[in-house]
Amino acid sequence: MRFTPRRRSPSSDEAAQSDIVIEFREVGLTYPGPPPVAALHPCDLVVRRGEYITVVGPSGSGKSTFLNIAGLLDNPTTGTYRMDGIDTASLSDAGRTALRGQRIGFVFQAFHLLPHRSALENVLLATLYRKDLPRHERRVRAENALRTVGLGHRLHAVPTRLSGGERQRVAIARALVARPSLLLCDEPTGNLDSATADTVLALLDTLHSQGMTILLITHDPAVSARGRRTVVIRDGMLEDPSHEVITA
Ligand code: ADP
Repeated sequence: MRFTPRRRSPSSDEAAQSDIVIEFREVGLTYPGPPPVAALHPCDLVVRRGEYITVVGPSGSGKSTFLNIAGLLDNPTTGTYRMDGIDTASLSDAGRTALRGQRIGFVFQAFHLLPHRSALENVLLATLYRKDLPRHERRVRAENALRTVGLGHRLHAVPTRLSGGERQRVAIARALVARPSLLLCDEPTGNLDSATADTVLALLDTLHSQGMTILLITHDPAVSARGRRTVVIRDGMLEDPSHEVITA
């Protein structure tokens, strides 16, 4: 199965920005403390549909803070974050959760798979909120997502019977099954040896070539070099060499 990027019917002011997945405008976060910690200084960032961007920085530089904001897990304390053209500040908690579930696929270092459920069941769990889809359709989508990551032959294997690389591919299938706008990867190869890491990074390359928008966060410069564009975070300051700011 080829990954099909989300095509949404344009509505209201979203149409004008339909090729922009993430727009940060002066987005920053200060933890209240005491003492207050300015973990992310106000920054601008534009991620266009189909881009593969890596975010690199040392420990403590603000990467998790950035990830939590981009992934709608935390609210910025300053600035405006628009995702797929939607001003996230206008959303209720439920609206934010729905946007996150529908449009962001997460891939974490630690896989976070249910150990006693099969690969297929782990992926199916991510479709449960799609009450509008019959169970059969959800199952077909889950199977297809696992085929996309090369695990069509391991549908019924439990994670303990899978290698680290295979577990991460199940996690990627789980992230893809909702057909998200954005794949948000947090140190996706951090638990893998370098050969296995390469196969996971090659899979991300393939997904990117098929149109997926990828934002990958890492402390590892070698991993970060896989992106087509790299953004650096240092001491809470995000440096984006493209300096693109949407003025509309
Ligand atoms: P990284 O992911 O790059 O290691 P973080 O985003 O976790 O960096 O942290 C950035 C800064 O914010 C660090 O100085 C960290 O100590 C601080 N920080 C992180 N979380 C909190 C919090 N909940 N409250 C206060 N300070 C925090």
